[in-house]
Amino acid sequence: MTNATNTADTIDWKTLRDDFPVLSRQVHGKPLVYLDSANTAQKPRQVIDITDAFYREHNANISRSVHTLGMEATEAYEAARKKIAAFLNIRADELVLTSGTTQAINLVAYSFALPRLKPGDAILLTRMEHHANIVPWQLIAERTGATIRVAEITADGELDIAALRTQMTPEVKILGLTQVSNVLGTVNPVAEICREARRRGIATVIDGSQAVPHRPVDITAIGCDFYAFTGHKMLGPTGTGGLWARREHLEAMPPFFGGGEMIREVRFEKTVFNDPPHKFEAGTPNIAGVIGLGAAVDYLSAIGMANIEAREQALLAYATEKLAQIPGLRIFGAAKEKAAVISFLVDGAHAHDLATLLDLDGIAVRSGHHCAHPLMQHFGVAATCRASLAFYNTFDEIDRLVAGIAKARTLLG
Ligand code: PMP
Repeated sequence: MTNATNTADTIDWKTLRDDFPVLSRQVHGKPLVYLDSANTAQKPRQVIDITDAFYREHNANISRSVHTLGMEATEAYEAARKKIAAFLNIRADELVLTSGTTQAINLVAYSFALPRLKPGDAILLTRMEHHANIVPWQLIAERTGATIRVAEITADGELDIAALRTQMTPEVKILGLTQVSNVLGTVNPVAEICREARRRGIATVIDGSQAVPHRPVDITAIGCDFYAFTGHKMLGPTGTGGLWARREHLEAMPPFFGGGEMIREVRFEKTVFNDPPHKFEAGTPNIAGVIGLGAAVDYLSAIGMANIEAREQALLAYATEKLAQIPGLRIFGAAKEKAAVISFLVDGAHAHDLATLLDLDGIAVRSGHHCAHPLMQHFGVAATCRASLAFYNTFDEIDRLVAGIAKARTLLG
């Protein structure tokens, strides 16, 4: 491990790879090149070990038991909540732990929006949203009579901010906006947009799934109303993540799920709910997973998010330059501020065929619609290939990708 006093230039990135056991495996007889971190990130042994140790040494349910294991489990779980909150510069008692972004956005949709919206209201979403920040809103629109409006993008895949501004009319009650596009890599100016929305009384729901793992994120500085993120893309276990919401919202919102843990007293006549964030955390959570996410946050913090961002920007610049030299290869998304996600197509090759041939070379890229149908419709394609990078990738791996695509082109052409 390194520490945050290092810079991206002095960190030994290749040695850090040794922390990720899966990165040393072979696929089809070739060393694995994992370029699908936007889908899910690989896990360092620090996360794997702490999760394993929880089950071996401490396993108990949280918040209920006075016995030693129960208290240890509760303490470790709540310590992880504090760590995650500090990492994102928010208060721990404003952080609802969820199974990920999808559950977090659904919580906002059902608990915040459903009771508030009425016919004539509008929900504004951008063209580049993941289905997780579209479908819950459609379900709510259907039940409330609200309508969905779409903020469009430019040819480079950036939000058309001027148009977005004109779309923030009095009917708009909610704006759903991704901080970083999982397809285009576009980084949206969320703080500026949230400021504007707040002036107009529009509640903002930021999808931070692709931002938190790759750049320093200060949710308080963004100034949104809600911020959702997912643990498995930030080196943590699957089934973890969270929702930050302003305290005033958390107090006003009714619970979404009812059950154990989220109550203070239950009588058949009336139940008194627990305080936020526990009010929204019914049932037994992914205890080991959240503790693992705490370890992931420690790991990321030790490297330093600014260093991770710098490393990934260097990889992105190299990959973009090399890929652009491949004849017939088209890259989707050329935003000025872009994260290390490259969606592409090669003339004459279907995305799935290309991904399948790359897999035979040990190279894992995602092919498909990336849970962003409206964006695919915008570009008039059914699918793209996507190479998404993380700090543990290397320049050699990008060379392997470029060589793999060149080889696949000759086989498919
Ligand atoms: N939003 C974005 C931008 C994503 O990339 C993803 C994961 N592909 C999600 C939401 C959904 O995250 P999860 O499935 O972990 O809830």
